[in-house]
Amino acid sequence: MESRERTLAPRYVSLTTRKGSEVRRTLPHRDIFMIGAWCFIDHYGPTDSADLMSIGAHPHIGLQTVSWLFSGHLEHRDSLGSVQKIKPGELNVMTAGYGIAHSELSQIGSEPLRGVQLWIALPESVRGMAPQFHHHADLPQSEHDGFTFHTFIGRYRGDTSPAEVFTNLVGVEISTGESSTTELPVVSEYEYGILVDEGELTINGAQVRAGELHYLPAGSATISVTTTGASRFLLLGGEAFPEKIVMWWNFVASSHEEIATARADWQAQNLSRFAYFSDALQERIPAPEMPNLRLTARARQRNL
Ligand code: MN
Repeated sequence: MESRERTLAPRYVSLTTRKGSEVRRTLPHRDIFMIGAWCFIDHYGPTDSADLMSIGAHPHIGLQTVSWLFSGHLEHRDSLGSVQKIKPGELNVMTAGYGIAHSELSQIGSEPLRGVQLWIALPESVRGMAPQFHHHADLPQSEHDGFTFHTFIGRYRGDTSPAEVFTNLVGVEISTGESSTTELPVVSEYEYGILVDEGELTINGAQVRAGELHYLPAGSATISVTTTGASRFLLLGGEAFPEKIVMWWNFVASSHEEIATARADWQAQNLSRFAYFSDALQERIPAPEMPNLRLTARARQRNL
């Protein structure tokens, strides 16, 4: 059963791993686990410098993390030795593959921090690849119908992001300073989500407020969007992800055993998988206990 077009409200989550702020989580959702290979959407801020949003060293496997800011600055560090500041308009993509550890520190004195942390599930064929980290400061930008488009993942309206991804996927920040209407051209084979950061949108006739994620199944060539006043939103889409995956804590895998092994490697400080790195926080976030049942692989939507 394919899901119909609908608006998903965020869950407010207090992260044990982040300090000082709740995040608004729209993926995974009970019914819609993924949109394309996008498998996690945390939307946070604005939070000011007295209310730091920093996260100590923690591991990932089997996914790519995408850091995209609307305001403020972060510093990324990881077990490959990367040290990278990021500001709005720039992109950090970390490919965990077999295993990586990283931390993110919000930068004191900068603008209030506001942004998203997105995860992309890696397909089985590359899930165990060597980890990588890339920073992209020069991303394509274009204007249509009074809207500004920043394509940070994939290709959209002739703009192509330099970021490497492993499935057919798109991520675009779209903004406007005034009340406007447009028809967004989209790939009819992709499913999409529109996450509203600021403003109120009417999407194909539905009212969608800041923090909400509007889900659109595959099958349409355009999406109708009307904004009320200044607005900013993300268009995230991709080809339906064909594989079932297990997602637990910071890990994506194909089985319970792979998750349990990754957890044990992190807890045992297996440095051949998750190398040591230093940062100003000097924290190492322990993995939670595994649940008292076998984790089972899940398809991208309920009832599939
Ligand atoms: Mn992380």
